[in-house]
Amino acid sequence: MGKLEIKAYAKINLGLDVVRRLENGYHEVKMVMQTVGIYDVLTFEQTSGGIVISTDSGELPTDENNLIYKAARLMIERYNIGGGVRIHLEKHIPIAAGMAGGSTDAAATLKGMNELYQLGCTQQELMEIGVTIGADVPYCVMGGTALAEGIGEKLTALAPAPDCYLLVAKPDINVSTKYVYEHLDAEGVKHHPDIDGMVAAIEAGSLHGVLERMENVLETVTIPAHPIIEQIKHRMEELGALNSLMSGSGPTVFGVFDEREKAQEAYEVIGKERLAKQLFVTQFC
Ligand code: ATP
Repeated sequence: MGKLEIKAYAKINLGLDVVRRLENGYHEVKMVMQTVGIYDVLTFEQTSGGIVISTDSGELPTDENNLIYKAARLMIERYNIGGGVRIHLEKHIPIAAGMAGGSTDAAATLKGMNELYQLGCTQQELMEIGVTIGADVPYCVMGGTALAEGIGEKLTALAPAPDCYLLVAKPDINVSTKYVYEHLDAEGVKHHPDIDGMVAAIEAGSLHGVLERMENVLETVTIPAHPIIEQIKHRMEELGALNSLMSGSGPTVFGVFDEREKAQEAYEVIGKERLAKQLFVTQFC
């Protein structure tokens, strides 16, 4: 019976705009997505039947509420797979953090089932299956630097974003994406990020152009509810970050640095000051 391992990468949003609230309650967004070097590791093993999930994370369900389970079941049903699968999740990506941790595990599961059972699905097919699990799943199948529109599922691949170093910090609070969107007055957003300008800056390879357009409208909801986010942003900038931003609906914050040493020093200080529960120095990938 076959066995394989897949890395599921986290994302950050270099820019996030909410264009409007849709009648069905979803929001039309315009975001720049970027894969970063923080990843979960999923191991897949063929079995004779059923889906069994295990994880080293004490915080996640292992039943059908885990997005991994949903993704595996979808593949088994859609492709009439006779056998089953045992999947182990080694969790590193902060949970409920704005880093698409669940979505990327689901995307990795679609890829894993495709390989394990040699189904021959194209990336496009996996993305189409992925959107039935969640709006961010197609992006997670694709990865890299991308513009996401619609509810996040309309994707345009971009040139790789300019090189830099990142300090990613997740404070010890949990933020529900649902709460943030429900409390956003989409029609009342006073300032919209210049996402088109950021796309142009990425295509031109201008880090400066990206930095000056880093903006996330969801900060207007999450920061007043959790001032620690602003505190971390401020501290990162005092410690040499060229800019900092909350990712997705938060609470994760990332700071952009031009040198690894500066990011590492900020890592040490913010860790000592206990401003964040999880901290990573990483890069785009
Ligand atoms: P996004 O950036 O897409 O909003 P997020 O980082 O805010 O994602 P996730 O880490 O994906 O949020 O998790 C949100 C919820 O999904 C958690 O409360 C968790 O219980 C559930 N969940 C189900 N499966 C997973 C999984 N494999 N990994 C993480 N969370 C999962």
